[in-house]
Amino acid sequence: MKRVTLPDGTDVPALGQGTWMMAEGMMAEGRGNRAAEIAALRAGIDHGLTLIDTAEMYGDGASESLVGEAIAGRRDGLFIVTKVLPSNASRTGTVKACERSLKRLGIDRIDLYLLHWRGGVPLAETVEAFETLRAAGKIARWGVSNFDVDDLEELAEVADLQGCAVNQVLYNPEHRGIEYDLLPFQHTARMPVMAYSPIGQGGGLLRSPALLAVAKRHDASPAQVALAWAVRQQGVIAIPKAGTAAHAVENAAALRLSLTAGDLAEIDRAFPPPRRKQPLAMI
Ligand code: NDP
Repeated sequence: MKRVTLPDGTDVPALGQGTWMMAEGMMAEGRGNRAAEIAALRAGIDHGLTLIDTAEMYGDGASESLVGEAIAGRRDGLFIVTKVLPSNASRTGTVKACERSLKRLGIDRIDLYLLHWRGGVPLAETVEAFETLRAAGKIARWGVSNFDVDDLEELAEVADLQGCAVNQVLYNPEHRGIEYDLLPFQHTARMPVMAYSPIGQGGGLLRSPALLAVAKRHDASPAQVALAWAVRQQGVIAIPKAGTAAHAVENAAALRLSLTAGDLAEIDRAFPPPRRKQPLAMI
């Protein structure tokens, strides 16, 4: 299985699992979805997608609780990522938010704790709280999300960038602006990119003629092509969300799909790479 090395030398799989919108269904429908979502996460784990991404924001804690249920009794070998809201990211607020997340997840240490996006709290304060949590063993490492190059440069003024394990940003063929500057910047800093919404949230990307044509050549699905495309380069981890076990297993199999130069050129024609700086896209 293709893996990505974090700055501290830890290896994680290049494909993980997202959990946004999980545990958010209506009552009756939600119960059915919940079982299917837990089954999806477990099937993903069984097929090597051992990195799971959640956030205190998702479902106001419900996604973290669902992850907790899915991983109960099988914590070993998993890499759990969650995020603090910017509004909680003060010196003391971060520590309290982390305690709540640990409880919902049912674990005693978060493998990677991210600042979800930049807010009003000075970065130095959030980093200080992250380091306090790391020293206390509540988190193993920290990182950021939705940071552009100028944000990372500001971060470098208050922290050693080597201490920032990843920057999680939007990345798929429809949104590839980071290839112009952020991706090279992070490559130089040896900080992996964690690509969110890698299959375009299951929308029009999966119906694009280019992806359909490449998928047909490989007897694969457009989602698998999008995932193989995201992790084609070193230092990128993609975290697709799957609400069914079938989707999770299909996504895991994308790691065996290798795109040819011809495939990549066809995708480039449909979704041209950036030629100039683009503002960081976010969802
Ligand atoms: P994704 O690009 O992962 O798309 C998820 C959608 O694709 C779902 O509707 C899912 O349907 C569908 N899907 C999954 N697998 C397949 C498949 N094999 N074939 C067809 N459709 C499929 O979007 P997300 O926005 O969820 O991004 C992934 C994760 O990234 C999030 O869940 C979250 O953890 C993280 N994220 C982080 C953000 C941040 O600000 N840091 C912002 C947005 C996302 P179904 O559920 O039916 O399987």
